[in-house]
Amino acid sequence: RDGEPIEVETINEFLGDLAGRAIQPRDADYDTARRIWNGAIDRYPGLVVRCLGTADVIHAVRFARAKDLQVSVRGGGHNVAGRALCDGGMVIDLSWMRAVMVDPQTRVIEVQGGATLGDLDRETHLYGLAVPTGVVSKTGVAGLTLGGGVGWLVRKYGLSCDNVVSFEVVTAEGQLLTASREENPDLFWALRGGGGNFGIVTRFRFRAQPIATVLGGMIVHPRERAGEVLRFYRDFMAQAPEDLTAYAGMVTSPDGVPVIAIICCWSGPMSEGERVLEPLRAFGPPLADVVQPMPFPAMQQLLDPAFPDGSYNYWKASFVPRLTDEVADLLVEHGNRIRSPMSAVVIEFYGGAPGRVGPSESAFAQRRAEYNIGIIAQWLDPAESAEHIQWARTFYDALEPHSSGDHFLNFQSEMADEVVRRSFGENYSRLVEVKRKYDPTNFFSLNQNIRPAEA
Ligand code: FAD
Repeated sequence: RDGEPIEVETINEFLGDLAGRAIQPRDADYDTARRIWNGAIDRYPGLVVRCLGTADVIHAVRFARAKDLQVSVRGGGHNVAGRALCDGGMVIDLSWMRAVMVDPQTRVIEVQGGATLGDLDRETHLYGLAVPTGVVSKTGVAGLTLGGGVGWLVRKYGLSCDNVVSFEVVTAEGQLLTASREENPDLFWALRGGGGNFGIVTRFRFRAQPIATVLGGMIVHPRERAGEVLRFYRDFMAQAPEDLTAYAGMVTSPDGVPVIAIICCWSGPMSEGERVLEPLRAFGPPLADVVQPMPFPAMQQLLDPAFPDGSYNYWKASFVPRLTDEVADLLVEHGNRIRSPMSAVVIEFYGGAPGRVGPSESAFAQRRAEYNIGIIAQWLDPAESAEHIQWARTFYDALEPHSSGDHFLNFQSEMADEVVRRSFGENYSRLVEVKRKYDPTNFFSLNQNIRPAEA
C-alpha cells in the first residue's frame, strides 16, 4: 500500500460525503498540509483529509478501508518520528477538530481529537481549572495522552492518561464506541498508554483539577557547575512535596552560553511554595532566577520558543531508576558534547502520583522508573543532520547500561520492535489481544505498532 498515488475518480467518490476538506497533491496548500512540526519529516501523502467532525472521521476510515489505503492519523502533528504522515495513502487529519467544552460543575472537560495543549489550557483556565498535560503548548492532546503524557502537574496528579474519564473512538471498522471503566473496559485500558493502535479518538473526556496560578520559571546556572547542580536537584527533589514538578535541562542560553537550568512549577499554595523553593533558589547562587507567580497557561508556554516549527529534530529518551553520581557525570559529559545550540538534555523527575498506579492498571507500564532522560537533537541546517543524530545515538547507547530497559514511547525518533515490546513490559501480550479484537488487520499501523499477529 505504501507510496501508491490515489486515483482522481477514487478521490471524487470520497468527496461527496465529506464536510471537511480533502487536500490533494495538485492543491496550492498541499505543501503546507503535508508539513508537521519536525522539519526533518518529508512525506508525500496521496490525500490529506481535514475532518470537520466525527462523521468525517468515520467516512474517511470506511473509505480508506474499502480502497485498501495506507492511513496515518494526525492529531497535533508533534510526534517527532512523523507518524502523523504517510507516503501515498490518506492522512486523517484532525487539526480542524479542536473544540474544548468545560463543565465547571463536574469538572469534566470534553476535548476533540485534534486539540492542542494550548487549546485545552485556554478554555479550562477561564474556570480556574487545568488538565495535566505536557510542557509545550502546540503539542497535540491526542498523541500525548495516548502515549501517557507527562508535564508540570505530573508528580501531583499523574500522567495525562491517568486523568481520562472516557474516550470516544472510531474503530478500524468505522464503528463509533465509547471506552470507559464501564463500557469497553479493555479498550479503555489499552488507550491509556497504548498509543494510536486501537482507533481514532475523536473525543477525550478528562477530569480537571483546580489550578489557576502557579509559582514557576527558570533558575539558571553556569554549565561548569552542571555536576553539582544535578546532584543538588536530585537530593532536593527526593524530599520535595508533590506540588512541585521540576526538570533540569542542559541547554544553550539565547546569547550562546552553555548553561544548566532548573525549570520548576509549584502548584500548591503560593506562600508555602515560596518557602519550599527557597533552598533551590539560593543554591549556587544562580546566574539568573526568573521564578514568579504566573497563570498556568503562561507556565505551559514557557518552553514554546525552544521548539520552533520546522526545525530539524531527532530525539531519544531513556528511563533511569536512579540519578546516581555516575549517571549524573555521564549526562554532563554527553551534554557538553552537544553540537547545536538548539539541542538539549532534559532530566525529568516523575516521583509521586504516577507510581501510585500499578503497572498493569493501564497500558502505560513504566511506573517505577523515577527519571526520564530526554536527549533532544535539534538544528536548522539539513546538511548537519548526520552529526546531530550521531550525538543523540551515542549518548543514548552510553546511557543504556543505566536505563531501566523501558523507554518513553512519546519521545522517540525511532524504535526497534523489541524496544516497543519491552517498554510495554508485562502489558504487551494483553495489548496484542486488544489489538486483535479492535484492529485485527493492523489498519492503524503508523504508531508504536503492536502487531495483531504476535503472541
Ligand atoms: P501526531 O504526530 O499528530 O500523532 C502522534 C501519534 O498519535 C501518531 O501515531 C498518531 O497516529 C496518533 N494520534 C494522533 N491523534 C490521534 C487521535 N486523535 N486518535 C488516535 N491516534 C492519534 N510528551 C509528553 O508526554 N510530555 C511533554 O511535555 C511533551 N512535550 C513535547 C514537546 C514537543 C515540542 C514535542 C515535539 C513533543 C512532546 N511530547 C511530549 C511528545 C508528544 O507527546 C508525542 O510526540 C505525541 O505523539 C504528540 O502528539 P500529537 O497529537 O501532537 O502527534
